[in-house]
Amino acid sequence: MNDPVLVLGGGPAGLSAAHALAAAGQNVLLVDKENVLGGAPILSGYAKLVPSGEWAKDAIGGMVDRVRADPRIEVLTGERVMRFDGNPGAFNVALGSGATRAVSAAILCTGFTHFDSVNKPEWGFGTYPDVVTTTQVEQMISSGRGVHCPSDGRKPARVAILLCVGSRDRQIGREWCSKICCTVSSNLAMEIREEIPECSVYIYYMDIRTFGLYEDKYYWESQEKHHVKYIKARIAEVTSNGDRLIVKGEDTLVKRPITIPFDLVVHAIGMDPNVDNMTISAVFDVQLEKHGYLAKASSYSAMCGTSRPGVFTAGAATGPETIDDSIAQGQAAAMAALASLRTGLPQAAE
Ligand SMILES: Cc1cc2nc3c(=O)[nH]c(=O)nc-3n(C[C@H](O)[C@H](O)[C@H](O)COP(=O)(O)OP(=O)(O)OC[C@H]3O[C@@H](n4cnc5c(N)ncnc54)[C@H](O)[C@@H]3O)c2cc1C
Ligand code: SF4
Repeated sequence: MNDPVLVLGGGPAGLSAAHALAAAGQNVLLVDKENVLGGAPILSGYAKLVPSGEWAKDAIGGMVDRVRADPRIEVLTGERVMRFDGNPGAFNVALGSGATRAVSAAILCTGFTHFDSVNKPEWGFGTYPDVVTTTQVEQMISSGRGVHCPSDGRKPARVAILLCVGSRDRQIGREWCSKICCTVSSNLAMEIREEIPECSVYIYYMDIRTFGLYEDKYYWESQEKHHVKYIKARIAEVTSNGDRLIVKGEDTLVKRPITIPFDLVVHAIGMDPNVDNMTISAVFDVQLEKHGYLAKASSYSAMCGTSRPGVFTAGAATGPETIDDSIAQGQAAAMAALASLRTGLPQAAE
């Protein structure tokens, strides 16, 4: 029997990889730096997920329970990997606690870091308490408290959601599209309208990327059924008149300046590379791609491989990803790791 496969990170990708390995009879060592498993959907308290509409605590919580109950999976939380030496089939892991473990392969499922909106100061986050992020609105909903203005707890009459905060923004070094935030924002807009039917919700966008089948279910339905308004605009700044927040910018369809008051402004934050990626790159001796995500060995023939044979990767560690794609990649990485162990042929960079 092989030594366990190390799965680093217990978010959707890591939970999926661990389960797939165990289901195939392979022992797993699952290590996460946080004290709870589940990754961003659990740690950040997401509400109802797109596209399934299931609560994150049920959907991802169910994946956590399945892994926790599996005797083939040893879970270490609140733990980090400090050193990783050896060769495919026979690696040694030194943990932060001082313990060492032998593992046969590794799958890096270390995910992403939410963009910190203080890096976009002209859009009011950190200055005005009623400028919040999509994760904060998710938490308002998932906690049962409901959508409200943090300054005084009132229900907002007017909400603006600003898209692409920390994505598609070359000025602050974020050139990527975070893929899911248009859809998440359309979904949140509908949830706000359902909870507070008298509330007007506006989405400020550069482009709408409700990709694939999401166009109909989120973009059109939010407008036709829930009367969410979309404004194609370039935002200049978010200020306050002492009473309400003021969103200033240019309507880029009619090329006119617009200044509109709101009670609550929501930043649709993007998915930055994990802040740990430099360390992960050094410890595991794997390359990063140019934006700072973990580099894939190849897009097709060795999709879950890294630059180091015997070390695989999956999910948002490699770039902005949805939950379903992260789960699929976790399973694919498990398969790649098993194949490399069974054939004795390490999957290498091409
Ligand atoms: C506001 C918002 C809402 C979203 N809503 C949806 C949605 O409704 N539907 C959808 O499909 N997608 C959604 N997403 C995207 C979703 O969050 C990701 O697809 C998903 O979390 C990726 O899973 P992952 O396992 O790859 O990474 P993560 O969820 O980031 O999990 C990574 C795990 O690795 C651990 N880790 C990190 N670094 C280390 C380290 N150095 N050592 C040990 N452990 C480490 C972390 O603690 C974490 O548990 C949303 C994203 C945002 C920003
Ligand atoms: S998914 Fe939409 S909001 Fe997110 S970065 Fe891409 S275009 Fe912007």
